[in-house]
Amino acid sequence: MIEYYQDLLDSIDSGPLEKWAKIMPEQISAHLNEKRYGDLPKWQAAMAAMPTIKAKHLDFKDKVHIGHSSEIDHATQALIEQQLRALIPWRKGPYQVFDSFINTEWRSDWKWDRVLPHLAPLRNRTVLDVGCGNGYHCWRMFGEGAKQVIGIDPSPRFVVQFYMLKQLIGKAPVDLLPIGIEELPANLQAFDTTFSMGVLYHRRSPMDHLRELKSTLKPGGQLVLETLVIEGKLGDCLVPEDRYAMMNNVWFLPSSETLLSWMRKCGFKNPRVVDENTTSCEEQRSTDWMLFHSLNEFLHPQDKSKTAEGHPAPRRAVFIAEI
Ligand code: SAH
Repeated sequence: MIEYYQDLLDSIDSGPLEKWAKIMPEQISAHLNEKRYGDLPKWQAAMAAMPTIKAKHLDFKDKVHIGHSSEIDHATQALIEQQLRALIPWRKGPYQVFDSFINTEWRSDWKWDRVLPHLAPLRNRTVLDVGCGNGYHCWRMFGEGAKQVIGIDPSPRFVVQFYMLKQLIGKAPVDLLPIGIEELPANLQAFDTTFSMGVLYHRRSPMDHLRELKSTLKPGGQLVLETLVIEGKLGDCLVPEDRYAMMNNVWFLPSSETLLSWMRKCGFKNPRVVDENTTSCEEQRSTDWMLFHSLNEFLHPQDKSKTAEGHPAPRRAVFIAEI
């Protein structure tokens, strides 16, 4: 799959991304490796079977809309839908792809609507999206005029979903590398805005995550952090011993005040909470593009203000800070 990254690699010939570009080919082949991920050949076959057409109509500003149905015939449409469905489950979206509406588990557009009004304008900025899933928000960032968007996510299924769509979009300075944040070269200082949305609570060490995020930013750059929080005062923090909303990889759920103090301790300037919101079963639900259980089944059957385990139900906050 290295061919998908050729434009990105060619575009980095000097500057702060250079040291990363040197190790990118090795990272790509180590992660997109069929010995490690047995399903990868099946997904790559679906990508290869995708019609080699480019969408004429593209909208990334108000939604992600790739191609009008009038641009292709029925047979081509059916082939596209078949390949997209081969990559189920689709978690982040939604995407309109010609006549196919990928009705994803998450209404990621609702999260974007909560975040966007608070951002330093993305026009001409170089942006990193840590834990970007299949890259839905990367396209929305590009739609806001970002000069370059790089997403990172260690899940190969999401990387293949991203390039399957990019194949229909054509050249764009938007890419998704198959790595976790811990694999970025130290002290990159390459980005004007770095996003970490839905990742911090999956990290065992939130302070290290904050420091890693800080080191990706240029001086004066902006961090946008979205994570699960609990209601409470400074110092409050939930560390679920067992599962949280059926997830077994959840570590720290601080109160907003607690997380602000962690951000200050890590050297961020003027950290602030710009949004807090309890996740609804309309925002995260099973669909025919994501057939497994979803939020409704992860909550307590008698009391939807609690998770199945009896913890406070998922509540998410958006934090912004500069360095
Ligand atoms: N940012 C998106 C997706 C959040 S889901 C959104 O807000 O909608 C969390 C994502 O983090 C998953 O796709 C998961 O693969 C990714 N992730 C898990 N560990 C990670 C790590 N160490 N570094 C970067 N991403 C990670």
